[in-house]
Order: sequence, then structure tokens, then C-alpha cells
Amino acid sequence: MIYSRQREVILGALRSTRSHPTAEELYSMIKPENPGISLATVYRDLNQLAAHGMILRIHAKSGPDRFDGNTSEHYHAVCSECGRTVDIFTDDMPDVCAAANGQDEIQVSSVLMLFAGVCKQCRESQQDTILKGEPS
Ligand SMILES: [Zn+2]
Ligand SMILES: [Zn+2]
Repeated sequence: MIYSRQREVILGALRSTRSHPTAEELYSMIKPENPGISLATVYRDLNQLAAHGMILRIHAKSGPDRFDGNTSEHYHAVCSECGRTVDIFTDDMPDVCAAANGQDEIQVSSVLMLFAGVCKQCRESQQDTILKGEPS
């Protein structure tokens, strides 16, 4: 991969946050200090970094892909209401790769697992809406 200062900036910004930003969120994060950068560059660099395994791409069922500068082994839980994505670190996970192996001709070496639910903030605002009634 050819060295690019912009790619360094993108990687640095991604590694300094745990918010799992989308390409557009990351773009607004770095734009003030890097006015020359374009959204197209951010998309392209994120794709290349993900393809080289230097960052993780989180592909949720709905909404745009999110990115993570932390490539250590962990899982993600996504709020289906607001898209907030949090890290889940656990050693207490069944070896699903081993379970999947031997069931088909594909030698399974990794698994993409994403947990979905509703975050605390969204649960609380849902509760508010129920208590106060729908705004008319
Ligand atoms: Zn939420
Ligand atoms: Zn993560």
C-alpha cells in the first residue's frame, strides 16, 4: 500500500475514537484540521485500510458501514434505533468456527458476528414517549 499522509490521518483518527464512526462521521472529525481532504478520499482510504486488515469494517443490517481502528479480537453490538455501536470483549464465546467446520466444503477460519439491540439512551427515550404519550 502506497504511503499517504491522508491515510495516516484517517487511521490516526479512527484509532483515537471508540465510536465506530461511519465514513461521513470520520470525514467531519478530520475535516477541520485537514481542509484539503475530500469525502471521496475518506471512502477510498477506508476501503483500502479495511482490505489490508488495518481496520475493521462493521456491516450492520441497516445504515452505512462503520469502521473500527481496533483490530484486536472483539465483537460489536449495534443499536437498531440510532446505530450506536459498542465493543464487546469476551473470552466466553463458543468456538463457532469449529462448530461450522466439517459441515460443508468451506474451511472456516473466521466469523463475522454482530449483536443487535436497543441502547440505553434509546430505551429511555422510548419509555419517555410511552409515559408522556405520542406527541400529537
Ligand atoms: Zn440507540
Ligand atoms: Zn470495536
